[in-house]
Amino acid sequence: MKNYIKHDEWKIIEEGFNPQNNRVSESLFSIGNGWFGQRANFEETYTGDSLQGNYVAGVYYPDKTRVGWWKNGYPEYFAKVLNSPNWIGLIIYTNGELVDLAKWKVLEFQRILDMKSGVLSRVVTVENGKGNRLLLSSERFCSMADPEVAALRYEITPINFDTEISIESCVDGNVVNEDSNYGENFWDEVSQAGDRQFGIVTVKTRKTNYYVSTGMESRFAYNNSEVTPTEFRKRSKYVSVTYHSNVTAGKSCVLHKYASIVSSLNYGEHEIEDACKNALKRASKSGFGNLYEDHRKYWEQKWDESDIIIRGDIAAQQGIRFNIFQLNQTYTGDDPRLNIGPKGFTGEKYGGSTYWDTEAYCLSFYLSTAQEKVSENLLQYRYRHLSKAIENAEKLGFTNGAALFPMVTMNGEESHNEWEITFEEIHRNGAIAYAIYDYTRCTGKEAYLKNHGLEVLIAISRFWAQRVNWSSEKEKYVMLGVTGPNEYENNVNNNWYTNKIASWTLSYTIGSISKIKENDPDYISKLFASLSFADTEVNHWQQIIDQLYYPTDPEQGIFLQQDGFMDKEIIPVADMDQNELPINQKWSWDRILRSCYIKQADVLQGIYFFEDEFEPEEIKRNFDFYEPITVHESSLSACVHAILASSIGYEQKAYEMYLRTARLDLDDYNNDTEDGCHITSMAGAWLAITKGFGGMRVKNDRICFQPFIPNNWKGYKFSILFRGFHLVIDVKTDITVISNLSETSCPIRMYDQEVIIQGNSEMSLPLNPHYALENLVSH
Ligand code: BGC
Repeated sequence: MKNYIKHDEWKIIEEGFNPQNNRVSESLFSIGNGWFGQRANFEETYTGDSLQGNYVAGVYYPDKTRVGWWKNGYPEYFAKVLNSPNWIGLIIYTNGELVDLAKWKVLEFQRILDMKSGVLSRVVTVENGKGNRLLLSSERFCSMADPEVAALRYEITPINFDTEISIESCVDGNVVNEDSNYGENFWDEVSQAGDRQFGIVTVKTRKTNYYVSTGMESRFAYNNSEVTPTEFRKRSKYVSVTYHSNVTAGKSCVLHKYASIVSSLNYGEHEIEDACKNALKRASKSGFGNLYEDHRKYWEQKWDESDIIIRGDIAAQQGIRFNIFQLNQTYTGDDPRLNIGPKGFTGEKYGGSTYWDTEAYCLSFYLSTAQEKVSENLLQYRYRHLSKAIENAEKLGFTNGAALFPMVTMNGEESHNEWEITFEEIHRNGAIAYAIYDYTRCTGKEAYLKNHGLEVLIAISRFWAQRVNWSSEKEKYVMLGVTGPNEYENNVNNNWYTNKIASWTLSYTIGSISKIKENDPDYISKLFASLSFADTEVNHWQQIIDQLYYPTDPEQGIFLQQDGFMDKEIIPVADMDQNELPINQKWSWDRILRSCYIKQADVLQGIYFFEDEFEPEEIKRNFDFYEPITVHESSLSACVHAILASSIGYEQKAYEMYLRTARLDLDDYNNDTEDGCHITSMAGAWLAITKGFGGMRVKNDRICFQPFIPNNWKGYKFSILFRGFHLVIDVKTDITVISNLSETSCPIRMYDQEVIIQGNSEMSLPLNPHYALENLVSH
């Protein structure tokens, strides 16, 4: 846990330089634009500890898996997001001495990420052994408005000495991944182009043959006049221009660097260099000021759609904005080939691949804060991988078009690197089905369900139907050998959550088939013919739904996480020696597996998804049993607990859980932010406020709220987009003001009351902070 980030409503601020925090800060101050992004590495040389990181969306390398004992079904490779050519590099000499923040004394240091405008800046004063001082200021951004472009402004002021400054501005493709399994270099050289005006490095990934061109154009000025470069260098995967200038004490020289980053995702290999050059021209023609203005305006709009204001708690305000900022700069939803890696553009961990995190957590955020196309693209991503998911299931022995979507993927192929855990986490298939339901209920658009969703649902249902088996002992269908969301259990039988989501998928698919059949029987006939689908399959699915086994404990009135759970010794986390936490660092794996401790919401994840099926008292009983034995060692855990705690009136608990999510990275809660930020769990902080404290739900085509205010806050306000409406929900100490910013009137539900908010107007409704508790008692 760290607390060196200064609290501020809109900015992430680091004051003073502690090299030990550098990797953490490099993650926290990362910037991106949905298409590429980078860690907050220094522009100038830094020989201290650092994780260099530039990443290009969708460009990956299939790093050969490392495994002790190969088993059939093991994925061939673990996909890696690639550390890509670095465009920010500046090699600076003053009077022949290299400027290196690890060697020069850092006298003053301030690094700021302004989330309002998406700009990273740094001001630093350094001193060399001779007492010569330099003031270095930089500002940079990856343009959200023009996602092929980035820009940097770098200013050098010798404070107390006249000096000859030499500055070499480069693009450097000689980069490696720290997490490479065999220390391999993932990039091959393609070309280096340019002259004193510009430079372009084009590289190609080994095996996957992705091309990436990174261009730069620099302008250097002293005393308001442009300095011409003295040298253009070109070597393998590297280009640079060098400037020299004599600078008087107290005067500044300024370098503007424009960069363009394009990949073969969007251009053919023969046109990529030209595309890079064009983007570069566009950027330099616009100039830093105009690029910045367009970028700022884009953020203004994004904040308009997705901001959350918290009154009376700056730390919480900073936390939630940080999460929203990172989500928006990681995924912009322009392209169905892209998705959201658990670390986004902030680090290498998790290989930049797609996990169930997207459907189970992130989708809700984009559904409520971005145009519908954005979440539709997340669904399309999986639709496009359907045939690979069918192949994946075939490799495991499934037939008849059954699909098993991967737990970890870049291109639809399974690419995880942990056999025991990830392989059996087949519950991810359910989350992909659930996302189709969530999208349909939130947008009201049945067309996606009909044209794409249903095919996916049928394939997933076919998988579940083959994955269960009949137990003659139990006289029920059972599902053996799975891992639930709680990864601290492997190879269990009848994980309640997995059984629940499997059976739900079957019901939802049957319901969707009959709804579409009613409206368009021809369509269904054609679809069935193309899938060789027989009506008897539906009958079989119905038998499974009716006779699937669910482990329960009737005495306590709870669902059991899996068969035999009650054989464990149940000791609440609060009663453990707290020095033994986190157990994933302190205990052997074998001890973890035997224990009752739960990594992340499992039964509670199911209750969260299918909340309407349970009475509040039932939710409370399960929460009271599972929460005390949950260690929350996955960043995805606390938010689900915050939402459920809110729904049963455990306000203090909800707030406690929210805090664990919202400032997880800013306070380096788990001591792992140096690897990158927990981007997917950031959606959890947003969920904890909107669905937790705000009680937001979509029921019967209507958006519903059930707000309360956590004790420590004076109020909060969030914006949402819902079926073409733009609503602002302002929860104050005794009322909630709902503003409808759209032209037409919007029906909503507040607690139990149905209300219509006229277009372009607002309505104040009384706050009932005890609603959840009253609801619990009245049941
Ligand atoms: C969690 C998984 C999650 C993965 C990526 C793991 O620690 O247990 O549920 O998908 O991280 O975020």
